[in-house]
Amino acid sequence: MAIIGGGPAGLLAAQRLAEAGCRVRIFEQKATVGRKFLVAGHGGFNLTNGEDPAAFAGRYGTASPLFEQLLAHFSPTDLRRWAAGLGIATFVGTSGRVFPESQHKPADLLRAWLRRLAELGVELSTRHRWLGFAENTGLRLLNEALGEEFILEPAATVLALGGASWPQTGSDGGWVPLLEAVGVRCHPWQPANCGAEVAWSPFFKEKVGRAPLKNIALSCGGHTVRGEIMLTDYGLEGTPVYALTPQLRAALAAGHSASLLLNLKPDLAPAELARRVAQRRPDTSLPAFLASALSLKPPVPTLLRELAGPAPDLGPSLAALPIPVTGLRPLAEAISSAGGVPLAEVDARLMLHRRPGTFVAGEMLDWEAPTGGYLLQGCFSTGAWVATGVQQWLAQK
Ligand SMILES: Cc1cc2nc3c(=O)[nH]c(=O)nc-3n(C[C@H](O)[C@H](O)[C@H](O)COP(=O)(O)OP(=O)(O)OC[C@H]3O[C@@H](n4cnc5c(N)ncnc54)[C@H](O)[C@@H]3O)c2cc1C
Repeated sequence: MAIIGGGPAGLLAAQRLAEAGCRVRIFEQKATVGRKFLVAGHGGFNLTNGEDPAAFAGRYGTASPLFEQLLAHFSPTDLRRWAAGLGIATFVGTSGRVFPESQHKPADLLRAWLRRLAELGVELSTRHRWLGFAENTGLRLLNEALGEEFILEPAATVLALGGASWPQTGSDGGWVPLLEAVGVRCHPWQPANCGAEVAWSPFFKEKVGRAPLKNIALSCGGHTVRGEIMLTDYGLEGTPVYALTPQLRAALAAGHSASLLLNLKPDLAPAELARRVAQRRPDTSLPAFLASALSLKPPVPTLLRELAGPAPDLGPSLAALPIPVTGLRPLAEAISSAGGVPLAEVDARLMLHRRPGTFVAGEMLDWEAPTGGYLLQGCFSTGAWVATGVQQWLAQK
């Protein structure tokens, strides 16, 4: 059994297959596995989410029906049990996100996982790059240390090659032509969970630079997300912006100017906001009024001036301030990517129609989900699913 790609999807598929008694070999092009998994660990290692199952599956957009099945097969609870089985206890944070207990660093989890794989007899070959298919069942591989190319004829293959963001981790999307060579038509890559670009004035950039806006709501295309955003010199970052990338992308692709609507006081009922705004005395400066009546401190006055002019109509501007978005940040710096292998190219087991015996897992499949643990859960669940699919397929052969 060959697994190509040593990210979470490939490693979990390897573990499940080895536990089922299969002889498993993993091939990874980088010198070490799990690089993006470790990157994910830098900014709060969010393994999954405690959200209830029906809402959880809804996070996968058009792929939700598939993920309903996948999550039932390897659920967030299964993921937490799996981590516990490696000695890594987890907890559900206030936002619903699931993290390892603070004493466990991401590298500890990866080390424990690799130890378990070794105990199960999984062979790991790093610095081995998959170069494409050979004949009907073979794989062309390059041992980069020796500069030697060879052909492997595995009983089945799992491709878990990742998406195309953060290419320095190995997820470089370089595999697309290799699949297209056998007729798999991949969808173009698009940044997902990424920042938005805004053409701030030089004055705004100079004055505000980088500043957080806490406890806001952001809307686009009928979707609203609460949280905190960061104003930067090129635009906006933060969970609500990331969660709205599908809507922003759709608006930008349709040639519309995309707009985010910012609610600076989402906890205030519109009538209460209107009441407070009506109390402003003409001799009170905008910054002083915003601070005293609404607890809105800098950079809010500068933001209002930038987007709504020097004398904004305060009621609508505080509740739905339009922020014109000129584009999305580049794919290379996005947290995840949309695009890759379309779900129409695989069967219910996630096996390629055009290449029986070759299964696809993780972010290389064209699905997307917001941050909050949904990405790793998606990768784990697809990894577990293909491991079952491989066993079924081998049993039928
Ligand atoms: C900054 C950042 C923060 C993140 N934070 C979180 C988070 O908190 N929670 C969360 O759920 N998700 C998070 N993610 C997303 C998560 O890390 C990814 O979704 C996940 O790692 C994807 O797993 P994967 O197994 O599909 O692919 P990857 O982890 O990308 O692994 C694919 C592997 O395939 C290898 N490969 C590619 N081509 C070849 C080839 N031709 N031959 C051999 N090997 C090859 C690559 O080198 C790579 O090691 C974050 C991502 C980033 C960038």
